[in-house]
Amino acid sequence: MSKNTRVPGYMQSKAARNARGIIGDREIRFKCSLQNTILDVLRGRPGWQEVPGPNFQQQNMQQNSRPAAGSQTSTQPPDGKGNKTGYQPVPPIQRNSDGDWDFYWCDREWLHQNYDTMFLHEHQKILHFRNHYELTRKNLMVKNLKRLKKQTEREQGKSEGLSFDFHPTTYELPSEYHIFVEEFKRNPGITWIMKPAAKSQGKGIFLFRRLKDITDWKKGEYQPLTDTTREVPETYVVQRYIENPYLIGGRKFDIRIYVLVVSYNPLKVWLYRDGFARFSNTRFSLDSIEDAYVHLTNVSVQKNAPDYDPEKGCKWSTLRLRQYLSAKHGSEAVKKVFKGIDNIITKGLQSVQKIIINDKHCFEMYGYDILLDDDLKPWLIEINASPSLTASGKEDYELKFGLLNDLLNVLDLENRLTGKEKRIGGWDLLWDDGPVLADDGNMECTTNGTSVTTANSFLGCHNDRKRQLREIYTSAQAIKKT
Ligand code: ADP
Repeated sequence: MSKNTRVPGYMQSKAARNARGIIGDREIRFKCSLQNTILDVLRGRPGWQEVPGPNFQQQNMQQNSRPAAGSQTSTQPPDGKGNKTGYQPVPPIQRNSDGDWDFYWCDREWLHQNYDTMFLHEHQKILHFRNHYELTRKNLMVKNLKRLKKQTEREQGKSEGLSFDFHPTTYELPSEYHIFVEEFKRNPGITWIMKPAAKSQGKGIFLFRRLKDITDWKKGEYQPLTDTTREVPETYVVQRYIENPYLIGGRKFDIRIYVLVVSYNPLKVWLYRDGFARFSNTRFSLDSIEDAYVHLTNVSVQKNAPDYDPEKGCKWSTLRLRQYLSAKHGSEAVKKVFKGIDNIITKGLQSVQKIIINDKHCFEMYGYDILLDDDLKPWLIEINASPSLTASGKEDYELKFGLLNDLLNVLDLENRLTGKEKRIGGWDLLWDDGPVLADDGNMECTTNGTSVTTANSFLGCHNDRKRQLREIYTSAQAIKKT
């Protein structure tokens, strides 16, 4: 680790680092900033104990209100009946102590404010790496990918650079406005999409075909600069709009995929089997580029559509999607799609591997958004560091509940596993300082049943997580005994 990437905690003496010792047999103390599925998972985990967090007042009142796993809504609002458990708020001074928790599902703002002054004990785990935005801001993601592509072309030749051609042509505004205009003029008539670099949920996005639309926007956005009391204009990206998305039932969709990074140095990446396709509610057409319900597949947008049916929702599991595509195009074509998605996942992470401040206390669960075009080519749309954990229905709740429980199984604060597992519940180890290959016999997604070695990647495959967990815990116990 280079000097400028050192974080507090590494420079402490061993005695100081281990002052609390490893967790051992005592309960695991957690904090959580969110009031959704993750809080349910943490509260429901045997041997885990909640300690005061930023939402302490609310959490304290909710001690007895956890809904049963599988219920539609996540954590209930406080019932106002007070605390009957004898669980008392700790005095403020203790509340600020970094040593009070073993696991913290914090929000990004909290991390930014506290990371640089935080002392972490050996065993503590916290969500987010310090500069996760290098990958999750739309402009920085593209910048980092372009840089690694250039480096790869330099070192390994032009043809290797082709494996980076999975994000639509993108420019940062205002800084690359003039280059964009040249590109715009070279491609008359195509559709472009404008997106604020740091916003989410479809906020501030619009499509356009005429330069005039953007100059009007530009005036509105940048004129205030003459007014010194106004803030600096927001950074946007302008991106080539994918005009030929793969449609099912005439509707556009994108795929949400969950990826867990437990270390950047060496890079260690897990891919969750389940994810979902998010459909737009309205049939796709290029005639109505101003209609967000046609073009933006975010659930936060679609749920406001006038004919949105909350019962039906607008999601398909990746299992269902994979089965649909296999039936329609055959398993070889589908394998190619999913191999392309694996490439996007790893290239995305490699593009920031040397930039992210690695810290053994940190982990990140990313939500990748991938769009397929009608040639079945996967495109990277964006990567989120805080993918929504609020469930939109029973099935969605079950997916997220399993996903998060298995994430805790991978982190293994309980120290029940061997550390050599390639699959833990629904998570498969995709990259461990290099590509991970599947074991023979682990071929659920091949159709001909032949035992060829493939990547340890099972996105959209059957997720029998509970059976698998039973097996690995039994086997880990046996190994530990010997
Ligand atoms: P946000 O962070 O606000 O969700 P995204 O970049 O994910 O922004 O875009 C929102 C939605 O807009 C995506 O889910 C996708 O449906 C659509 N979209 C975004 N970029 C493109 C593109 N280049 N081509 C086609 N559709 C796009």
